[in-house]
Amino acid sequence: METRTMKPPPSPPSGHLWRIAQAGGLGVTLLLILGLFRAPGTALRLLWDVAIPLLPAVFLINPKLWRNVCPLGTLNMIASSRRRPGKLPDRWLPAAGITGIFLLLLMVPARRFLFNENGPVLAVTILAVALLALLLGAMFSRKAGFCNSVCPVLPVERLYGQSPLLNLGNAHCSACGQCVSRGCLDVAPAKSIPQILGTSRLSHNWLQTGFGAFAASFPGFVLGYYLTTNGPLDTAGSVYFTIALYTLASYVLTQIVVRTLNLGAELAVRLLGALAIGLYYWFASAVVTEHLGLHDGATVTIRTLAFALIALWLWRGSGSPADTRRILLHSR
Ligand code: SF4
Repeated sequence: METRTMKPPPSPPSGHLWRIAQAGGLGVTLLLILGLFRAPGTALRLLWDVAIPLLPAVFLINPKLWRNVCPLGTLNMIASSRRRPGKLPDRWLPAAGITGIFLLLLMVPARRFLFNENGPVLAVTILAVALLALLLGAMFSRKAGFCNSVCPVLPVERLYGQSPLLNLGNAHCSACGQCVSRGCLDVAPAKSIPQILGTSRLSHNWLQTGFGAFAASFPGFVLGYYLTTNGPLDTAGSVYFTIALYTLASYVLTQIVVRTLNLGAELAVRLLGALAIGLYYWFASAVVTEHLGLHDGATVTIRTLAFALIALWLWRGSGSPADTRRILLHSR
C-alpha cells in the first residue's frame, strides 16, 4: 500500500534548545570556513577525522539528530521562511533525488584529489553549496528545494536512517506543510524509503529506481573510495574510474543476490545500509587512528563500537519476531 500521507510531525520537545544548537551549527561552520583559509591543516583534520566520521553513526541513531541542526538545513529554512514560496511539484521529485545522488557520487571521490588536502577549495565549495541552499530555499517551500530534494547527503541519511534507534521531534516544522508530497525524513524516517520507492518495492523493480540503484551501488562506492588514495589533481580520472568500477560491481552483485535469493526490498535495502556503513567504519577507523595519532587499539575500539551499533540498528529494524519471519520468507 502506498503511504504518501504526511502526518504532522511531533512538536519539538525543547524548541529553544534546538534553536541554540542551530545557531551553534552556523557559528561552527563559519569558524570552519575561516579555519580552512587560515589554518587548513587543523581545520581539515577536525572535519574529516573527527566530525565526518561521527555522522553515519548519528544517522543510525536518528537522521533528525543531524537534520535538526545541519547548518545548510538552517539556511534553507531561513531563506524559505522569508518568502513563503511554493511546494516542489511532485513530478520533479525523482529528478531532484537523482541530482542529489549524482552530486554525492561526484563530490565524495573529489576528496581524494581536492577536498581532503586543500582547505581553501573546500571552503569555497562549502560556501557555494550554502548559497545553493539559500537560493533553493527562497524558491521552494521549507526543505523542498534543497534538504528534501537535491542535498547530496540526503540519500545517505535515508539509507542509514531507515530504522532510527531513538525517537526525535522535528525542530524545523512545528506542523507539516507538505513541502514535498512524500519521503520527508523529518516526518517519519522509517517511511521515507517505502514512500520514495513506491509500488516498485513490491517487485524487483526497486533496483531500477534512482534510490534503489543508489542503495545497491553504495557499498561498492564506499569500498572503492577507500581503495584509492589521496593524490594530485591529475589523479582525478583514475580515482573516478576505480570508484566507478566498484560501484558498478556492487550494483551488479546486488542484482544477482536479490534475484537469486528473491529478497524483498525492505530486507535488501536494510542489509545494503548495514554493509555500506560497516565497510565505512572498517576503513575509517584505521584512517582516524593514524591521522589523529591514536593508540593502535583505537581502531579495534572504534570498529567494535560501530559494529555493535550496526547490530543494534539491524535488530531494531527487524521489528517483532513475526516481522522477521515475514521478511525472511521473502514477502515482497
Ligand atoms: S520539511 Fe516539508 S515535508 Fe518535511 S515536515 Fe517540514 S513541511 Fe513537512
